[in-house]
Amino acid sequence: MNRKHSNHLQTVRERMDEACRRSGRAPESVRLLAVSKTHPASAVSQLHALGQRAFGESYVDEAVTKITELANPDIEWHFIGPIQSNKTRTIAEHFDWVQGVDRAKIVRRLADQRPDGRPPLNVLIQVNLDDEPQKAGCQPDRIAELADMIAGCDTLRLRGLMAIPAPRDAFDAQRAVFARLRELYENLRKDHPGIDTLSAGMSADLEAAIAEGSTMVRVGTALFGARNAAGT
Ligand SMILES: *Cc1c(COP(=O)(O)O)cnc(C)c1O
Repeated sequence: MNRKHSNHLQTVRERMDEACRRSGRAPESVRLLAVSKTHPASAVSQLHALGQRAFGESYVDEAVTKITELANPDIEWHFIGPIQSNKTRTIAEHFDWVQGVDRAKIVRRLADQRPDGRPPLNVLIQVNLDDEPQKAGCQPDRIAELADMIAGCDTLRLRGLMAIPAPRDAFDAQRAVFARLRELYENLRKDHPGIDTLSAGMSADLEAAIAEGSTMVRVGTALFGARNAAGT
């Protein structure tokens, strides 16, 4: 067993539990997505052996190499990177979840390309909370339309929302952005009561995200250490 991974995993779980405790939430109400981009398949195996099941990847080709190498049906793979339309087939064929869906064209392609016989692909709509035009994510006023479209596809399953806010240092500033996301999520749940996932919070702001209702934190650096410059 790799000592470093085991310690990091325990530290992250403790941070999550403490954040839940402070908000009066049950620790089981927040899942950990281990972001393994740029790290080797062996690092995924080691963490999986410690009980971690969900892993996030941002680069399609790198991810498919790992998914194929590990060939482990117990691992749940999440695609969390920006989605290029020429990669949707590969994503639909290899992943269990896609977190960054932000436009109709991608919804259509993923729905058409999900292979027969596989369970529906779990989908989160990515929201752009900072109004940064160069960034991925739909504007908040487009969520409803995309959600209806996803919910209407048999090969897709709408699970909720995801966001990557611009980094902020202060806890209160982090929390204020996540509060806006939570409001969008609660609104969406009025029309789609089956949704259950708010993917928010990373290594640097998971406490603020949990304080505002996150049900899934995506953690890379705090689990695996720093990524090299090529893969940030
Ligand atoms: C890389 C990445 C993360 C992990 O970020 P850390 O700061 O290393 O925890 C989370 N979410 C997304 C979408 C990412 O691309």
